[in-house]
Amino acid sequence: MAFAITQTCCADATCVSVCPVNCIHPTPEERAFGSTEMLYIDPRSCIDCGACADACPVDAVRPVLSLTGPEEAYATINADYFEGTEPTTRTPGSPNLHDWGAPRFDRVLGADFPRLRVAIVGSGPAGMYAAEDLILHADAEVTVLDRLPVTDGLIRFGVAPDHPATKQVAENFHRLHQHPRVRLALGVEVGTDVTHEQLLEHHDAVIYAVGAPSDRRLGVPGEDLPGSLPATTVVGWYNGHPDVAADAVDLDTERVVVVGTGNVALDVARVLLSDPDTLAGTTIAPHALAALRTSKVHEVVLLARRGPEDAAWTRPELLALRHLPGVELVVDDHAEEVGATIDAAERGRKAATLQGVARRGIDWSLPPAPGRRIVVRFLATPVEVTGDEETRGIVVSDGARRTEIAAARVIRAIGHRGQRVADLPWDGATATVPHHEGRVDSLPGAYVAGWIKRGPSGGIGTNRRCATETVGTLFDDVITGRISTGAVRRRGLKRLLARAQR
Ligand code: SF4
Repeated sequence: MAFAITQTCCADATCVSVCPVNCIHPTPEERAFGSTEMLYIDPRSCIDCGACADACPVDAVRPVLSLTGPEEAYATINADYFEGTEPTTRTPGSPNLHDWGAPRFDRVLGADFPRLRVAIVGSGPAGMYAAEDLILHADAEVTVLDRLPVTDGLIRFGVAPDHPATKQVAENFHRLHQHPRVRLALGVEVGTDVTHEQLLEHHDAVIYAVGAPSDRRLGVPGEDLPGSLPATTVVGWYNGHPDVAADAVDLDTERVVVVGTGNVALDVARVLLSDPDTLAGTTIAPHALAALRTSKVHEVVLLARRGPEDAAWTRPELLALRHLPGVELVVDDHAEEVGATIDAAERGRKAATLQGVARRGIDWSLPPAPGRRIVVRFLATPVEVTGDEETRGIVVSDGARRTEIAAARVIRAIGHRGQRVADLPWDGATATVPHHEGRVDSLPGAYVAGWIKRGPSGGIGTNRRCATETVGTLFDDVITGRISTGAVRRRGLKRLLARAQR
């Protein structure tokens, strides 16, 4: 028997550091880290100790023999990652409890420095991984600010409610909220309620971890018609985001088109078509659950610009979609090359995940057939959202011809985009803050972490390494005297934050 990592993998690599035989890969030291769909356990080397399962913050690690139904695929998915490689072994220098190499202090700020005071703007994963590093590796005091009245950012408002194991990662951060050197200031918007300069009067540095809260736009006519929505609105709606009205999403229609094939697109399709009773015990917003109970939606169409091998979803999320109770997954059989690519795909390839999925030609001028269904249409570039007063449909092109898909709701899920942060420099092309290993060179005391630093890619765990780099840079700057510590005002912070919260 061996253990296997499953769908909920957050890739924060906590498991890697506890494995006594170094059989979980890629490790943060390996080039592939951050670019794979998840982490994998080499079944040839695993000694079944279970340490990784105990350490995993999202309960993603399970004994292979306990996997049932669709989860059985993870035994193969884990093993496939190591195909053609030598069995993994403990490597010198790897982050391994049993590898007692020379100690490394390069990311620790010693006691010879006055207490470091850092403000972190954003209580999502990037901000909290930074807070964790500061608390564990320095005698730092941390003020975590969030413009919302609640913590957790993307974990609370971005992860789908039917992924409770993924949301569980927030529990680690909640423990940190209680730490005596951590102060929370919720409902405070930096740039509006308090300025960067005011924060710097009381802190040695400010780390901005504000994410990428906007959506990328399609750039086609009609995308602002009523009924055409960004995915952030839909995701915020079912997660109860305070900025999204309870009636922001109207499900009084049979077909919804989602532009995009990333995991957010799959989340939206899954939530819209799931049996509401299965969502009832989750964190779904009550208004969304009530709307789903009376929803007329029974077909969701996912539009992919390119072919099956280029879909943006991860294989675990597509596997989950294949096994959604009462919902049929169908590939629109409109182009011969789509089926040919799926049939020719070798095991482990993205397109191979669609082998065995029904393929059907669909007449888009007709209303959807009875039954709940997700249809994937590949080679479909959006050209125009149609309608006069309201959305009527979307025209797509495969290069040779155009097709109009009738749908009263069109949801664009083609990625996030950062929003300009007050006082900070801005790169409009990437919608990120220009930085050098997390330091904003043009604004003294400012640092960035997470999506506002590297752009909106990578899941929750990817932020751990990103935050670690930023905190490492901050420690370097303290050690080299680039920023000074101990000179900030010790009094008045509480009053400043209380005033800002009003
Ligand atoms: Fe490593 Fe033990 Fe987990 Fe196997 S069960 S992957 S040996 S930590």
